[in-house]
Amino acid sequence: MSIDLKNAIRSIPDYPKPGIVFRDITTLLGDARAFRRAIDELVQPWSGTKIDKIAGIEARGFILGGAVAHQLSAGFVPIRKKGKLPHKVVSIGYSLEYGIDAMEMHVDAVAPGERVILVDDLIATGGTAEAAVKLLQKIGADVVAACFVIDLPDLGGAKKIEALKVPVRSLIAFEGH
Ligand code: AMP
Repeated sequence: MSIDLKNAIRSIPDYPKPGIVFRDITTLLGDARAFRRAIDELVQPWSGTKIDKIAGIEARGFILGGAVAHQLSAGFVPIRKKGKLPHKVVSIGYSLEYGIDAMEMHVDAVAPGERVILVDDLIATGGTAEAAVKLLQKIGADVVAACFVIDLPDLGGAKKIEALKVPVRSLIAFEGH
């Protein structure tokens, strides 16, 4: 089953720089059957359970997270790059390969104790998702899972998230970077 999803993802060597294989999900999103299958598989463990909010990480997490939220009858919360959200925000810094960046969410986007699932397209080193989980936990969310279409297990990102007591689920894995 995941073979189909894997085949729907385009791999672009040496993008955005030499040595990185970019896993491009635009081909999956453009394929109606693959897109539906990915969303169906992402929501499958949660159907029939109460999920209050889906938090999606800018930008590909918005597309997947919006569809997951709709399917689970949950609200959607955008986690955005610094300076993009108009209302009062909570913010967290995180390390990038070169330097530091920040991500933000609206302070009132999640009420304390609400059950939230974090969604993004891919987990690599886990730095991005780790910051997002910490941001959600900071405002009192109960982060019940972090879900990804793709895991790059060689980079160990899932372990970082599990260390925050948040289970990780990915649909497919690619070896290497
Ligand atoms: P990380 O913080 O290292 O887990 O990186 C995860 C974020 O960077 C996600 O939002 C991904 O969309 C993006 N990303 C990292 N590596 C790749 C890759 N090889 N192909 C596509 N996107 C990637």
